[in-house]
Amino acid sequence: MAADTLEKALAAEVDVRVRAALNEKMEVLRKALRGLEGVLTGAEVKAATAAKPTPRPRNSKRACSIVGCKRPVKSRGFCAAHYQKWHKLSGTGKLPAEWKPDAAPHSIKDVKLPRGRAGNARNQEAAAF
Ligand SMILES: [Zn+2]
Repeated sequence: MAADTLEKALAAEVDVRVRAALNEKMEVLRKALRGLEGVLTGAEVKAATAAKPTPRPRNSKRACSIVGCKRPVKSRGFCAAHYQKWHKLSGTGKLPAEWKPDAAPHSIKDVKLPRGRAGNARNQEAAAF
């Protein structure tokens, strides 16, 4: 019985001391925070927290790889339109050998794709085999 009460008394004493030490540390932190609030104004805090994302470098000065195209490069040395064409041609396996990505500007001859009935016939022919 005596050991039990002693244990309880010790636990209470430890609890009181730990709480006192924690309160002391918290008071020091609160004081430091108050000091920092005095240094920075609201605008400075806003500017410091709102980090601007660095803009992605764009090589828009380069010209498209396709002969006669005046649009700036978007990706892989092609402008947006020719990149899309390159992507679709490579996806269907109809990509001409000279259509290599990141080629010199105005170095690749454009491909005229069949439209209308001719294009439809070609697509159906390709689908049959
Ligand atoms: Zn182009």
